Amino acid sequence: MDISIIVPLYNEEESLPHLYDWIVRVMEENKFSYELIFVNDGSTDNSWQVIEQLKAGNDKRKNAAGQVHGICFRRNYGKSAALYCGFKAAQGNVVITMDADLQDSPDEIPELYRMITEDGYDLVSGWKQKRYDNALTKNLPSKLFNATARKVTGIKLHDMNCGLKAYRCEVVKNIEVFSEMHRYIPYLAKNAGFTRIGEKVVQHRKREFGTSKFGLDRFVNGYLDLLTLWFLNKFGKQPMHFFGLVGSLMFFIGFIAVIVVGGMKWYALAHGVRAMLVGVNPYFHIAILMMILGCMLFLAGFLAELVIRNSPSRNDYLIKKEI
Ligand code: UDP
Ligand code: MG
Repeated sequence: MDISIIVPLYNEEESLPHLYDWIVRVMEENKFSYELIFVNDGSTDNSWQVIEQLKAGNDKRKNAAGQVHGICFRRNYGKSAALYCGFKAAQGNVVITMDADLQDSPDEIPELYRMITEDGYDLVSGWKQKRYDNALTKNLPSKLFNATARKVTGIKLHDMNCGLKAYRCEVVKNIEVFSEMHRYIPYLAKNAGFTRIGEKVVQHRKREFGTSKFGLDRFVNGYLDLLTLWFLNKFGKQPMHFFGLVGSLMFFIGFIAVIVVGGMKWYALAHGVRAMLVGVNPYFHIAILMMILGCMLFLAGFLAELVIRNSPSRNDYLIKKEI
């Protein structure tokens, strides 16, 4: 099969029939064999009934080049969870993800497919260069977000979180989208060793039906998730390298402070000056605090090493080839 199209959706009943028609038209014009996987993320409207109807209609069509599949969550788990299940089910050589709200255009699929199969990209991300969302709440924060993400991840993408993306099948089978990490799939792919990451300017459209499912909190959570991913990538397999370093540094500062406190007291006593009580000396408090913090960070490092030893994935490596 050429293409798996994965569409995560939450309360998008009005958009679905239009999206289905549009995808079928593009697929048939380009003679692709494909599957369309709708992942209903616990919608509370009639999205699932619409998917059932679309599937029934598609199954009845003679010579249909594609199949429609649906996965229905019992409750709303989030876009990452929907993508994760879609990736697990996908069987096409190229996997395309797109939003259900008609903001992404299926007309982009043939070119995305070509970039993966002919240009050799592992992943191609859409770039909504001209964006039809609210300028203040979406476009501007998104620019800041992407600038930070570029710095931290080292991936030169303008629109890391674009819903429209294409992957070589191997990529989606070897990354695990989790929590709210759908914003950083290119980073997950890069960390898994899929470094040929490309970008394509894509058309973006206004949301016609329904409402956006993400508020401003996405930017706070997005930044925190970026920190987590950075930490996991850098120190995930050797946490002691992080905690040990910071712990040693703190302990060292504390140790110096102890010497300063002791030295001041000794100097005062030796010269018969009235000595400051050790207990009121600010360096004394710095010394205690830093030494305790240093020890605690070391302890956290050892504990993290113990946790990792028990992780079932501690020796999972992606092998590219064997002869
Ligand atoms: N979505 C989802 N689960 C959620 C929230 C959103 O599957 O919990 C889907 C949503 O239906 C849409 C896509 O993720 O297909 C992108 O969401 P949205 O259009 O609200 O994001 P925006 O375009 O505003 O960034
Ligand atoms: Mg949208």
